[in-house]
Amino acid sequence: MEHVVIIGNGIAGVTAARHIRKESDKKITIISSESKYFFSRTALMYVYMGHMRFQDIQPYESHFWKNNRIDLIEDLVESIDYQSKTLKLKQSSGVKYDQLILAVGSKPNRFGWKGQDLKGVQGLYSKNDLELMEENTKGIKEAVIVGGGLIGVEMAEMLLSRDINVSFLIREKTFWGNALPEVDSNFVTQHLNRHHGLKLLFEEELDEIIADESGRAKEIKTKKGKTIPCQFVGLAAGVSPNVDFLKESELEVDKGVLVNPDLSTNQKDVYAIGDCAQFKTSINDRGPVEQVWYTGRMMGETVAQTITGNKMNYAPSHWFNSAKFFDVEYQTYGRVWAEPKENETSFVWKNNEREILLHFVFDKNSKVFKGINNFGLRLRHDLFEKWLNEQATIQHVLKYLKTANFDPEFFKTFEKDIVDAFNKEFNDSVELAPKKWWRKLMHDKV
Ligand SMILES: Cc1cc2nc3c(=O)[nH]c(=O)nc-3n(C[C@H](O)[C@H](O)[C@H](O)COP(=O)(O)OP(=O)(O)OC[C@H]3O[C@@H](n4cnc5c(N)ncnc54)[C@H](O)[C@@H]3O)c2cc1C
Repeated sequence: MEHVVIIGNGIAGVTAARHIRKESDKKITIISSESKYFFSRTALMYVYMGHMRFQDIQPYESHFWKNNRIDLIEDLVESIDYQSKTLKLKQSSGVKYDQLILAVGSKPNRFGWKGQDLKGVQGLYSKNDLELMEENTKGIKEAVIVGGGLIGVEMAEMLLSRDINVSFLIREKTFWGNALPEVDSNFVTQHLNRHHGLKLLFEEELDEIIADESGRAKEIKTKKGKTIPCQFVGLAAGVSPNVDFLKESELEVDKGVLVNPDLSTNQKDVYAIGDCAQFKTSINDRGPVEQVWYTGRMMGETVAQTITGNKMNYAPSHWFNSAKFFDVEYQTYGRVWAEPKENETSFVWKNNEREILLHFVFDKNSKVFKGINNFGLRLRHDLFEKWLNEQATIQHVLKYLKTANFDPEFFKTFEKDIVDAFNKEFNDSVELAPKKWWRKLMHDKV
């Protein structure tokens, strides 16, 4: 019987295993050094905040793996011999594969800062990091977070939930400025500034972390010479593919493991998926490395098809993503670039009191809708996907916007305001679709 071995039990590896089992009788083994059972990395913060226990973020019961004949090995893969198709493990004896899937994820960036290995200094990626954070933040009062992105915000929320004051060093002029347009970024900044105990420091970078006599972080210095006392430093300056142990072999590795459109690598019967994969040629307007949850899942589904005999290329549809900035939910569908493209224009609608911002982008000439950033509402993915596929105009999107809302009663108050504001700004005459229309569309699930 053919043996498929998967290194990594994150969303990418586990999805591949589940789908290979659905389609075939192959022997499947998943190896991970992090934990025996798969858990939701995106929910780690809720364990720290006491909303869930660690076992609650494990989507499958322990018998699931036995029932589905998926063998689990908890060990570290140290190296791979691609000729003999054998893995060398740290503790167990070697494992042979017929087909190998590399799903080894990312690691937090560390830029060689002075003091980055002191006690009380850490990133947030793994189960181990969560446990360390629990230990490192016991009884402390002040923390510094380095890096203004999504993991940094999560760390800030975690620390504030335990009454730990946080200074947040953000290299850019605005918050998450490499991903968000300035108006969106300012909106998020305003929201974050409402949180007592959180101090955002823009255009500030870490220079050095200084230890007390016991070797624990006691303060940091910024590049502009500011000193900030702290007992904890959270390193949240992005992640990179976790591929160090794969380098210096015949496998082609750049930032990540280089893959073809079908996720195969330059080694026979070896594939790479999820955060660790880097496409040799980018697909559409997507980056070569995609480090988000749902893309890992899609790559897992795709590679399972190829491995079970139905060769398939990874073919993601329009970009989407979601996150939370404390209480404000964020969704993005299509592309809203930090710097608009030459042919694009924006319509931004804001309600400061309710903390809602909608940022629509569309083509200046054709008026074709290109994307939306949505803060503070919940908008339906399937509908935006349909509008992007159909190249609907901004006027069409606004006319039927109500159908995209999860909660029509709540949204009712804003919809007319949004369309009126658009008409005023663009000298247009969009009219809302009559009730029977949006009812019908919602009923038909578009
Ligand atoms: C705190 C946090 C919050 C996040 N929130 C979001 C979010 O809200 N939305 C979103 O889309 N994305 C989010 N992400 C990103 C998302 O979690 C990742 O994109 C996703 O988990 C990657 O899945 P993966 O299967 O590729 O890799 P991983 O989940 O990293 O799994 C890889 C596994 O392989 C193991 N491994 C690596 N090397 C070896 C080896 N040599 N031997 C054995 N085992 C090995 C690792 O220990 C790990 O368990 C978040 C990430 C973090 C850290």
